[in-house]
Amino acid sequence: DEPWEMLKSNETVLVTVRVRPPNQAELSRDGTSVWDTPGYDDHLIKLAKGRDGGRDEREWVFDRILDSSTDNARAYVTSARAHVRSAMDGYNAVIFAYGQTASGKTFTLSGSPSSPGIIPLSVSDLFAGIRSTPDREFLLRASYLELYNETILDLLSPGTSKELSLSEGKKKGDIIINGLTECAVRTEDEVKRLLRLGEERRKVGGTDWNTRSSRSHCVFRIVIESRAARPSVPDDGSRTPGGGLLAAGDKMTRISTLSIIDLAGSEKHTSSKERNAEGKHINQSLLTLKLVISKLADLASKRNITHIPYRDSKLTRLLQPSLSGDALISVICTVSPSAVNLAESLSTLAFAQGLK
Ligand code: ADP
Ligand code: MG
Repeated sequence: DEPWEMLKSNETVLVTVRVRPPNQAELSRDGTSVWDTPGYDDHLIKLAKGRDGGRDEREWVFDRILDSSTDNARAYVTSARAHVRSAMDGYNAVIFAYGQTASGKTFTLSGSPSSPGIIPLSVSDLFAGIRSTPDREFLLRASYLELYNETILDLLSPGTSKELSLSEGKKKGDIIINGLTECAVRTEDEVKRLLRLGEERRKVGGTDWNTRSSRSHCVFRIVIESRAARPSVPDDGSRTPGGGLLAAGDKMTRISTLSIIDLAGSEKHTSSKERNAEGKHINQSLLTLKLVISKLADLASKRNITHIPYRDSKLTRLLQPSLSGDALISVICTVSPSAVNLAESLSTLAFAQGLK
């Protein structure tokens, strides 16, 4: 099964580029894509003929290329399913959507009622996995938070969204999000209800919804705890479960997290107001994210053991426990097909290349 090849080859980071189809406005102007995705094993993306404008770099290779005809179900299979399943097996998994505003991040992760995205598909897959693993008992806990202007907001707290702080746990590298609401969930419907609640919260909490949704990172997380329903021999696979075993007594308990992050828009912020405040936080957190991921990739391939700058942004800091220890990471970089957005799309591809 193709998505598992990565687990076998011990790759830490899977990088996908997804091109969205042209929208109505783009169709009525020009409608042709600046991208050519010739499909050589779906790894190659090129600037279409006549679109390179004399650029040296005209083609790029990534783990996965999803062209504009790819639906969310396919995106899930190619870029998320292996991660979700390994999270069920006790490893941490982290899935990001990165790209300019309106390039398709939220469509890819949340989807629409007729085309559910990676979050609802992951949730379905988790519950299907639980049903087909009767020899283990599972406990799932969901949380949903928004990081806006370096402020963490709990999107599931009772009442209005609450501002949360971070602190260090007892174990090295452990970060506690103080007071974060974690809801035990037993069915897909329960999770979907929480997701809807979170979406509603995002809409009422901020100043202007459109502005805020493009400037904030949203982290949906499921903590997966499981243990053998009957006593059995613990598996001693060569990979160590990222979340670590529970310290107390029960050695059979595995705990891991699946985190799915809809990142702030990656576009350059041009107005002076934005350069000063929000824009600076966003640039810093996306830059730190790239550094952290590429250093984790280095570490996994034993090319290098260096300091990993989790502490340089709140986003990487709060994700530190989930990213450490054999976590599997998937980054889906979304780009627009339009010539108007070419400069931003090229900077998205540069980010994607920097991850390995
Ligand atoms: P972002 O979250 O990156 O700002 P959105 O996911 O909101 O962007 O996408 C912008 C618009 O384009 C939305 O109306 C969305 O439904 C649509 N869209 C994005 N990607 C696709 C796709 N692959 N297929 C169909 N429509 C898409
Ligand atoms: Mg969005």
